Amino acid sequence: MAIEQTLVLVKPDGLKKSLTGNILSRLSEARLEIAGTKMVRVSRQLAEEHYEALKGKPFFEELISYIMGDFHQRRKVMALVYHGEDTITKMRRICGATNPEEAESQTIRGAYGRITTSGIYENVVHSSANAEEAEREIKLWFAPDEVVYQIFPVKVVEMNIKKLVWS
Ligand code: UDP
Ligand code: MG
Repeated sequence: MAIEQTLVLVKPDGLKKSLTGNILSRLSEARLEIAGTKMVRVSRQLAEEHYEALKGKPFFEELISYIMGDFHQRRKVMALVYHGEDTITKMRRICGATNPEEAESQTIRGAYGRITTSGIYENVVHSSANAEEAEREIKLWFAPDEVVYQIFPVKVVEMNIKKLVWS
């Protein structure tokens, strides 16, 4: 079985409900390594790029508002890269089905998710669905030097950029 990496997000409802510890405990049962983690302020551009495959769905606008934190008064998510054998499938299994009412109760989404009265699935976590999606999403959310093992090719470029530093 090949070594893979996958992107997991603790969505704004998971953060608001103080579920981060519980979620990380559940995910740790897979005995995989965390190769990267950070808190991310989600811009509209990042949200729309992350969910670009769902553009046109009736719930798209609400989904963008949800992942940006508009419904939970916090514009942030916790992003993690998990690394190890068969990571993508293992993490998806622990997270559970997309619809939290259909997700098995021992999964994260089954235990903690809900459907709001306006119909949006607040399912607490994101986990990449397949290898192609995992690669695209890790590259979208993380720079190479924010991940301790790089399984995708990298290159060095010279840049003259403005950067925020401690003053
Ligand atoms: N979603 C929703 N209603 C739907 C389908 C999806 O609110 O009928 C939301 C839900 O938050 C889900 C996200 O859109 O996690 C992405 O949908 P996808 O089908 O990719 O499910 P996932 O890969 O997250 O299981
Ligand atoms: Mg998906």
